[in-house]
Amino acid sequence: MRIPCPLCGMRDLREFSVRGAALPEPGGAEWSAAWDDYLHTRDNPAGASREFWYHGQGCGAWLVVTRDTVSHEIAGAQLAGAEDAS
Ligand SMILES: [Zn+2]
Repeated sequence: MRIPCPLCGMRDLREFSVRGAALPEPGGAEWSAAWDDYLHTRDNPAGASREFWYHGQGCGAWLVVTRDTVSHEIAGAQLAGAEDAS
């Protein structure tokens, strides 16, 4: 599997590590049911999923990768936080 890093181009999967689903963090610093759900209750979708990946053996950027969890096809990748900037 190859991942299209926006800064480095197409790179091998072994250069990256995955953090998990790219979900928005709940607001607030205090513990809440929303934080409990965010940390402990996750869907396991079959199909398109957005995930955080770290390019540790490359540029060191955090990416949001759109990946099909069944076929593992990569539909795209962008710098994490880039979707918030637009
Ligand atoms: Zn990179």
